[in-house]
Amino acid sequence: GAEENLKVAVRVRSFNKREIDMNAKPIIEMSAGQTVIRNPAEPAEDGKKFAFDYSYWSFDGGKQRSDGFWEPDLAQPNGKKYCDQNKVFEDLGKGMLSNAWEGYNSTLFAYGQTGSGKSYSVVGYGPNKGIVPMFCEQLFAEIGTKKGGDTAYEVTFSMLEIYNEIVRDLLNPNSDKKKGLRIRQHPKKGFWPEQLAVVPVDSYQAISNKMDQGATTRTIAATNMNATSSRAHTIVCITFIQKSKNSAGQELAKSSVVNLVDLAGSERVSSTGATGDRLKEGAAINQSLSALGNVISALADQSNGKKVKVPYRDSVLTQLLMNALGGNSKTIMIAAISPADINYEESLSTLRYADRAKQIKTRAIINEDPTE
Ligand code: ADP
Ligand code: MG
Repeated sequence: GAEENLKVAVRVRSFNKREIDMNAKPIIEMSAGQTVIRNPAEPAEDGKKFAFDYSYWSFDGGKQRSDGFWEPDLAQPNGKKYCDQNKVFEDLGKGMLSNAWEGYNSTLFAYGQTGSGKSYSVVGYGPNKGIVPMFCEQLFAEIGTKKGGDTAYEVTFSMLEIYNEIVRDLLNPNSDKKKGLRIRQHPKKGFWPEQLAVVPVDSYQAISNKMDQGATTRTIAATNMNATSSRAHTIVCITFIQKSKNSAGQELAKSSVVNLVDLAGSERVSSTGATGDRLKEGAAINQSLSALGNVISALADQSNGKKVKVPYRDSVLTQLLMNALGGNSKTIMIAAISPADINYEESLSTLRYADRAKQIKTRAIINEDPTE
């Protein structure tokens, strides 16, 4: 397979209630693939400029809903400005789908502070479906049109959470909550969590049920459930296998692993009020995210010709994402940002992170083997 750069998309959402209540001002501009962020403390300065593969303006345009968010409305003068879920799927999800059919692995991960729109893009809410449901629906629809021929199709699903450096199987509520799953290393396939439940699925509905089941299994800390979910990394893994016979009657299997990663909030965890477990939690989450930052930096250095060791082993997250970041995968990062001046530092840090990530190169190959 050819080497290619990790693709980066940036998406800015509209003001949320808190930002409106705080009379926040917008500091993000986008035009022709360029994203500009202005420092609210230095209004006279030029903004800092970034260029990414995709820039998604979901701040305004179209018509405003009662919840303050916007949706496209072609009848309005600005009706096309707002970028909706369909556009994101067209650009990112469709490509992942054709990769899956061709037998390439792909990974999509969302980075950004809590509330910036990571889950909205990856999973979505209600009728505003994100990439995961649209991807699955389309995959099964396409399988439906091809079924009955010589090729057999298998789809499996698994879902895990990394919380405090512990891997929890979200499809197995009885798995050991304290120790979590052990991470093993396979010489070819990289790291994988031992005994993770991998279930066959034959419809999006089946996956959706599993995801609901997974969501209820999710860790609920004593204080605030929302805060907790923002501190865990969730990884959904879909495997798609196509089995056929070649002219010699030998069985062939083409397989693709699709990882969809909703990362923990990237904000620096403040220690205010955090004691005991809560403090440990913040520290461990930082360990996984800062390890990811170090891995991304090392890989970017490598792409620029430097000889450096990539510290995959420094966290569970970076072990599980090893293939996605430095190996056999076509990978996309969505950097989700708030439009508001009050989030300047966090948004700038997300854009810098994304800027580093876009230098990474991976080399995806078609996974096709005669079956044993
Ligand atoms: P995160 O997962 O990064 O913590 P969420 O995806 O849960 O953040 O988004 C926070 C809120 O903002 C949710 O209510 C979500 O529906 C809304 N939201 C985020 N991005 C968008 C968008 N592009 N368009 C409309 N609503 C959005
Ligand atoms: Mg989220």
